Amino acid sequence: MRLDLISIFPEYFEALNLSLIGRAQQDGLLEIRRTNLRDYTHDRHRTVDSPPAGGGAGMVMKPEPWAQALESVLSDDGAAARPILVVPTPSGELFTQQRAAELAAAEHLVFAPGRFEGIDERLTDWAQEHFQVHRLSIGDYVLNGGEAAVIVMVEAITRLIPGVIGNAESLTEESHSADGLLEYPVYTKPAEWRGRRIPEVLLSGNHAKIEAWRREQSQQRTRRRRPDLWAKHVVARERAAE
Ligand code: SAM
Repeated sequence: MRLDLISIFPEYFEALNLSLIGRAQQDGLLEIRRTNLRDYTHDRHRTVDSPPAGGGAGMVMKPEPWAQALESVLSDDGAAARPILVVPTPSGELFTQQRAAELAAAEHLVFAPGRFEGIDERLTDWAQEHFQVHRLSIGDYVLNGGEAAVIVMVEAITRLIPGVIGNAESLTEESHSADGLLEYPVYTKPAEWRGRRIPEVLLSGNHAKIEAWRREQSQQRTRRRRPDLWAKHVVARERAAE
C-alpha cells in the first residue's frame, strides 16, 4: 500500500517510522511519502492560510496549495482506481474498525490533515473529481490539527494489512472485531503479583473452559462499559438466530 501524508508539519509523521509500521516499510509492505504543503505555495512567506470569508475567528487553509499538492500526488499514481483521499475533520463520519478494514484493502491512500479552522470547503468538492473522498472524524472532540488523527487512522488501517502484524490471529479476538464485543481481560506471569492472583481458570489448561470464561468476560465488560455496543451485539445475535 502507498500512503501520501500531506501537512505543514510532515515531521509529525516520523512516529510512523517506529515499531511495526516502520518495519512494514522496511519490508516493502508499505510505502509512506510525506509532503510539506508549504512546498506548494508561491509567496515569500509560504502562506497556506487566510482569514475566513464572512468574518469570524481564526484562519482557514487556502485551497490552492492543497490542490497543487494533490495534483502532484496524482501525477505519479500508477493505480487504475481513483486513489482515496481521507480528510480528517471533527465534522466527518466516525472512523471505526469497520472503516479501517475497508481502507486496508486500498492500494493508495492520501491524507489531508487540516490546521487552523480547517480547509476551504471547495477543496473537497474539487477533490471529488479526482479521488474517492472520505471526511472522517476520530471522535467527538477537537484537536489542534489533523496530524494526530492521521497517525491514529494509519495505525488502525495498516495493522490490518496481511504481514504487518506478526501474529494475524491476534487481530480476530480483539475489541471491535467481528462479534462487536470488547476484549476479555488479559494476564501474564507471575500467577500471583502483589497479592493479586490470575483467575484460576486460566491456569487450568482446559481450553474449552478458558474460552467460555473469556466469552463471558467479554460480554460482561461490553454490557457494563459500552451499553451502545452491547445493544448492537444483541440485535445482531438475535438476527443471526432468526
Ligand atoms: N473548526 C473546525 C470545526 O469546528 O469543525 C475544527 C478545526 S481543528 C482546530 C483543525 C484540524 O484538526 C481539522 O481541520 C482536522 O483536520 C483536525 N481535527 C480536529 N479534530 C479532529 C477529529 N476529532 N477528528 C479528525 N480530525 C480532527
